[in-house]
Amino acid sequence: MEPVVRQQQSIGRPITCSGIGLHTGQPVTLTLRPAPPDTGIVFVRHEAGESVSLSASIRNLEPTELCTALSVDGTNIKTVEHLLAALVGLEIDNVYVELDGGEVPVMDGSAGPFARLIRAAGIVRQDRRQPFAKILRPIEVADGDRRVVIEPSATPRITYSIEYDHPLIRRQTYRYDLSVSAFEREIAEARTFGFLKEVEQLWSRGLGRGGSLENTIVLSERGVLNESGLRFQDEFVRHKILDLIGDLALLRVPFIGHLIADRSGHALHTKLVEKILDQTDRWVLINADERPVTAQPQSSRHVYAHLRNTPLPVPSAF
Ligand SMILES: [Zn+2]
Repeated sequence: MEPVVRQQQSIGRPITCSGIGLHTGQPVTLTLRPAPPDTGIVFVRHEAGESVSLSASIRNLEPTELCTALSVDGTNIKTVEHLLAALVGLEIDNVYVELDGGEVPVMDGSAGPFARLIRAAGIVRQDRRQPFAKILRPIEVADGDRRVVIEPSATPRITYSIEYDHPLIRRQTYRYDLSVSAFEREIAEARTFGFLKEVEQLWSRGLGRGGSLENTIVLSERGVLNESGLRFQDEFVRHKILDLIGDLALLRVPFIGHLIADRSGHALHTKLVEKILDQTDRWVLINADERPVTAQPQSSRHVYAHLRNTPLPVPSAF
């Protein structure tokens, strides 16, 4: 079996794509650029001659209704989760994400276009080990009958269940063992979805302005409005896994554990990230370069504090 831990990785060269924002409906251009080891994923928003960097970290999370958004000093970036899922899914640890607007383009509503963009740029191994958060004891968040828990596991795994009173969904459960090839094959292409009634309400409130059948599966009472149908019969639960992978990126280190989610969503996903960071006696940071692999909870707190507080390098090109 392949070892779970590995070196840090970035992309091989800068690469660009354009699209529209799902919520703003505005055109936006996105450029991914290689970044040095220990950078993490850093968004850089360029506007009116100014550049603001926002690290993909839970401390920059902006609470929103419909997507995962980041905010620093009044500058925000919406709908980061599908791009983050593609970066994490393809094991890109260090990258700058430049945007000329306030929202990541929605593309086709999945992470597939971003995964192909990363493939086109190439994946480069760096001269530094990637730390992982290895879960030792369960950490759980719940809201009524909705819950997410992360439990110890030898390899990273996600089991997700959803339940909707709709003939095409009902209850769907999917188990995903994390690997780059499984991500591309099973998860990346699953699109976001909404119910016709809710979608109409959103559009009437001026939200989801970029939403269309080009980037959202829209469910009527009996079926799917999109002419081309579904990409997978259980595309809905696969997309929820995609969202969870993207939201967990805000931990800033990959996890080794089993994530089990039932009827969850962005709010609970991000709550779990906060709880993991609070409960440092329930996991250890392994494979960090600073010190040998250790099972001392104290050291994970130490190394995490280091990760969290290290000033982010600002690339000279900006
Ligand atoms: Zn989504």
